[in-house]
Amino acid sequence: MRRRWWSLLAAALLTAGTLLPASPAMAAPTFKVPFPCGQSWSGQTRSDHSPAYAIDFNRTDDLGDPVVASAPGTVDRVTDLGGTSYGRYVRIDHGGGYTTYYAHLNGFNVSVGQTVGYGKVIGWVGSTGGSTGPHLHYEQRVNGNDIQVRFNGSLALYWGTKTYSSDNACSGTTGSGTVNTAGANLTVRSGPGTGYAAVGSVADGTRVTIYCQTSGTTVTGTYGTSSIWDRIGTGRYIADAYVYTGHDSWIPNVPRC
Ligand SMILES: [Zn+2]
Repeated sequence: MRRRWWSLLAAALLTAGTLLPASPAMAAPTFKVPFPCGQSWSGQTRSDHSPAYAIDFNRTDDLGDPVVASAPGTVDRVTDLGGTSYGRYVRIDHGGGYTTYYAHLNGFNVSVGQTVGYGKVIGWVGSTGGSTGPHLHYEQRVNGNDIQVRFNGSLALYWGTKTYSSDNACSGTTGSGTVNTAGANLTVRSGPGTGYAAVGSVADGTRVTIYCQTSGTTVTGTYGTSSIWDRIGTGRYIADAYVYTGHDSWIPNVPRC
């Protein structure tokens, strides 16, 4: 009886979740320092900065050093403003209204529409635009408004200069993708194949973190035929043929399970 009641409740919740529109009040992503794991960078905030809550990062001989995504997301701007403002900059959309900006880059390593995970190199430190020396200008925004930067949930120093150590992708790189089934829920399996038990489902349009990829049953889905399966949690796999990852095959830098 208890079991049945629980099943009915779960079904009701699933139905409600299907009918409700996407929640506008998503929790903030866990942002990481936008440099490779283990590096230390001096980050400066100042009240006359534009926008005010941006951080300028420096370290010795930093021209050309790699800049990495501070959280999983989709690149939605790769823009060169020439000799003004941000110069060459990248914006990443993290969902829920959250975006991050990486400005004055020397060059780009991503393109618009590309899905990125923690630690993905998106470009290199430069001095383009309205910059007088190499540095990374970094911002976090919600719905377009700049917010005070947080790394791992901890507020950056306002105002002043502080050393920030990166733990970005220290335990390996994850990828991310968006489920695209043209409407139906996608079945989550306990292993990489259709013969494994169904352990849940994800709705069309769900953004997933991909911890690793492996080969399994060949599936024909929205993005063609593939035997790649994505592990999106412990004992949770979905067919990559239904996931937009920005890559036709294996996602670079995401480990094999
Ligand atoms: Zn700046």
